[in-house]
Amino acid sequence: MLISRNVNALVDQLEGMVSSGLTIGFVPTMGALHDGHLSLVEKARSDCDIVVVSVFVNPTQFNEQKDLDNYPRNEHNDEKLLRQVDCDVMFAPAVTEIYPTEHRPEFELNGLDATMEGAHRPGHFNGVVQVVDRLFHIVKPDKAYFGQKDFQQLAIIRYSMKNLGHRTEVVACPTVREVNGLARSSRNQLLSDSARKKAGILYQELLAAKACFRTEDSNRSIEDRACTRIKEAGFELDYFMIVDPVNLAPLAELEKGQAIACVAARIEGVRLIDNLMLFG
Ligand code: AMP
Repeated sequence: MLISRNVNALVDQLEGMVSSGLTIGFVPTMGALHDGHLSLVEKARSDCDIVVVSVFVNPTQFNEQKDLDNYPRNEHNDEKLLRQVDCDVMFAPAVTEIYPTEHRPEFELNGLDATMEGAHRPGHFNGVVQVVDRLFHIVKPDKAYFGQKDFQQLAIIRYSMKNLGHRTEVVACPTVREVNGLARSSRNQLLSDSARKKAGILYQELLAAKACFRTEDSNRSIEDRACTRIKEAGFELDYFMIVDPVNLAPLAELEKGQAIACVAARIEGVRLIDNLMLFG
């Protein structure tokens, strides 16, 4: 496995490979890798000739300095795991390599950032789009792999990368979970054992919403019940919302078309998100 930290060197290396007709599969990550990330790498491995994984904690998508400072980093272990799944290139650049200037462009996100994560984390998605745009320009992947766990991010990346003229196919990958249903996340390692156990409730409530979605009259009552139970379990809740999976708008009471339930809640100061397609 090649470990690359330099943009120009990586561009040269990848250009050499592509000119011989090889396809590139790309998995952007912020490191502290776990089985969720590795499932994306494995999918890329089965689809493409060359697999590139970036490990870069992107400062422009953090809206709290403390969150950025506390974000888990373990490059040594990341390298080991990536070797195990037969990754070809680990790209682990310094911040100045990705952002040689302080320029922070504003991206047009078609209102997809107006709700949920976008509403609770101002500027977050602008930073996500900034880094993915920059990485796509460097790696020029044929396909790039993103987790459905970050559903709003996936919708925004699909929209914005097309809008910015990238030809890369965006591939969505299913959420990998812990035994109790908690979606795997680099942040889970910041939780105590008891909070990690409790956090299974987020998935339990998504499943409960799915179970009554077809029969209940009102999405609002499903949301309210989930909110109450999650708060009673000791979480600070940001939202539990049933939205349209295409435009992310909250779904009116009796609509029973495509729908996805999305949740964000904090425990022990660690913010967790998850979602589940209810129908469609
Ligand atoms: P991150 O390192 O958190 O920025 O995540 C990098 C990529 O891995 C994103 O596309 C995430 O959606 C994806 N990912 C994170 N956790 C999971 C998971 N539990 N299952 C599947 N994909 C995931």
